[in-house]
Amino acid sequence: MALLTGKEYVESLKEFSPEVYIRGERVQQVWSHPLLRQTVNHIAAGYDFARDPRYRASAAVQSPLTGEEVPRIQLHIQESLEDVVAKAKLTREVTGRRICAGCMSNMLSVTWALIYDIDQAHGTKYFPRFREFVKTLQRKGQIIAWGMMDPKGDRSLPPSRQKRPADLRIVGRKADGIVVRGTKVHTTYGPAAHQVVVVPCRALDPEDKDYAVSFAIPIDTQGLKMIARPSPGPINQTEMESPLSSRFLGVEAMTIFEDVFVPEEKIFMCHEWDQALKLPLYFASLHRQSKCACSAGHTDLFIGTAALAAEVNGLTMKVSHIRDKITEMMMAAETAFGCSLGAALEGKKHPSGVFLPDPVIANSGLNFIRSRMGTHLSYLHDIAGGLLSTMPTEADWNHPQLRKYIDESLQGSPKYTTEERLKVLNLAQDLAASRLTGTLMGFTINAAGSPVTNQIVVRNLYDLEKRIQVAKEIVGMKSL
Ligand SMILES: Cc1cc2nc3c(=O)[nH]c(=O)nc-3n(C[C@H](O)[C@H](O)[C@H](O)COP(=O)(O)OP(=O)(O)OC[C@H]3O[C@@H](n4cnc5c(N)ncnc54)[C@H](O)[C@@H]3O)c2cc1C
Repeated sequence: MALLTGKEYVESLKEFSPEVYIRGERVQQVWSHPLLRQTVNHIAAGYDFARDPRYRASAAVQSPLTGEEVPRIQLHIQESLEDVVAKAKLTREVTGRRICAGCMSNMLSVTWALIYDIDQAHGTKYFPRFREFVKTLQRKGQIIAWGMMDPKGDRSLPPSRQKRPADLRIVGRKADGIVVRGTKVHTTYGPAAHQVVVVPCRALDPEDKDYAVSFAIPIDTQGLKMIARPSPGPINQTEMESPLSSRFLGVEAMTIFEDVFVPEEKIFMCHEWDQALKLPLYFASLHRQSKCACSAGHTDLFIGTAALAAEVNGLTMKVSHIRDKITEMMMAAETAFGCSLGAALEGKKHPSGVFLPDPVIANSGLNFIRSRMGTHLSYLHDIAGGLLSTMPTEADWNHPQLRKYIDESLQGSPKYTTEERLKVLNLAQDLAASRLTGTLMGFTINAAGSPVTNQIVVRNLYDLEKRIQVAKEIVGMKSL
């Protein structure tokens, strides 16, 4: 059962009845709700990808925990350089086609390392519980929603000093578990996952110990509510318009824990405030290395779309400014991917068994590719032309009286029909002039932590002292 088909995933959602709201209404059936269509499609496509004969040799991996095949991107704990490289390649392949690879194995891997450290530091017995949890996920082929980010309120204050605390925290102890209250925000895919895993999102002080909590619960646990924001595409499936966002992408959710009971066997951290910072540190190395490959894939998508838009407009890579812009994007994609591979190569195995990429290279690469996003969007507008923002809609194209005007007026290269040209320009529009554009920008800039956090990691870990010593040696200065 571990390697579900997309269809089996959709069926599996019927076993859960989570409390989900979308556009002010209670969702009755996640698997069939029109505003969750793209999300369910997207996750299902991720399951099918692992079984696709073209990718299966790498995309499905035999789990050392269960001995069964599991989807690598979603469920495998990364243990080796080979694992990290394979995942980076697959991630680029998927994000270059449909934006998000659904890389929840990253989250399981960083949590794996965190929980191990907690046991080492405190003599607790959380790690065997977490290992059992991951095994069960793998056996059932279930995926998680990731609840790391707290609302954080006034950013200048720690959680315990907020006037109206909203971050997730422990509010009660029972003989067989804990009670938690508060919120996690930005829960990507939330309602369409099977389980929710939460972890702290920042360093904590002794006064914040109630906020030092990690656990997993099924998506339909009593008291757990999600307020979901629909994915950016149109409600109905379209043929020509929004070719990506009408099919794929995910809802985002605000995840509320209203006095939720968490049974003992699903608690992985409970008050160990001194270990909380480990999670964002491991996340900053592992997930950002993966994100370099993810953003390389987005850049690939921009490159292919821009080059095809030039073609349907009757131009080619022979036009120097088009060639230069597309080449610049190619180099940016390869630089980001190179950082993903380089960070893997310089990585180390954590004592828990997780392979952690080098944080300095990963954060440098991610910061670089993030900073190119605006320019790449402008290149797509520039190369595709103004129709990207102004062309008539699909409904006009399908109108019996209007089509002939559009067909005559908007032809481009004689090698392509007007309809083909419009399809390509609609893909460019989906990427560069739509609600998807904004989401993609948010995805690039904020998902995986804001850009300044890349700088903080690099500044703290780059070996500056060594470089100063070398400079001193060259000019003949004595070390103090
Ligand atoms: C599309 C998308 C998907 C996401 N998916 C998930 C998910 O599945 N699960 C999850 O847990 N999270 C997810 N995130 C959350 C993401 O990790 C955060 O958005 C990101 O870490 C930034 O945090 P924030 O949104 O609270 O912004 P803030 O932290 O408020 O940042 C805003 C600005 O304030 C600055 N800032 C903040 N605090 C301070 C401070 N104390 N001192 C100085 N400067 C400060 C930041 O550097 C930044 O410039 C997702 C985000 C996006 C956009």
